[in-house]
Amino acid sequence: MADEECDYLFKTVLVGDSAVGKSNLLSRLAKDEFHLDTKPTIGVEFAYRNTKLGDKTIKAQIWDTAGQERFRAITSSYYRGALGAMLVYDITRNGTFENTRKWLRELREFGNPDMVIVLLGNKSDLVDLREVEVEDGQKLAQQENLCFMETSAKENLNVEDAFLQMITKIYKTA
Ligand code: GDP
Repeated sequence: MADEECDYLFKTVLVGDSAVGKSNLLSRLAKDEFHLDTKPTIGVEFAYRNTKLGDKTIKAQIWDTAGQERFRAITSSYYRGALGAMLVYDITRNGTFENTRKWLRELREFGNPDMVIVLLGNKSDLVDLREVEVEDGQKLAQQENLCFMETSAKENLNVEDAFLQMITKIYKTA
């Protein structure tokens, strides 16, 4: 897989509080192309995902924190060179939405200033447990100039769309 030909290689990262669904989103995106590698020194996992845009093949390397956010700050090497970020919160836990501001600060401090950031309100299938309204996500996205979608990694809702939106925007701005 890593040797397969591609026209572009984009590094992208998943960020957000613990248990918002980052690993499940990664599994969805990587699907059968799931080749989990680990970088034990910095405690991350990543997988690859190929996407066709017109006649171009884009290979995205998608990094996941592998739970490190629980124990210590994510190191700057996590963000280095990343062209896109999926900033995830859990619509059933308001605290995870409030913390997106902290994650944004970190992305802006350590990441590339042109990084494409997609805000994802995950677990949209859990409507009865909702604590964060769709409008709250939309408003934040508007204020911070982010793309926004609610997703369900469990039911595979909007996951592909959100990813494609990010990849397309990176491609257009790269
Ligand atoms: P991470 O710590 O951010 O990587 O979160 P995980 O991917 O490990 O998910 C944390 C928990 O939330 C697990 O029990 C998942 O099964 C569950 N989960 C993740 N995504 C969804 C979703 O879209 N809907 C529901 N109902 N549960 C989810």
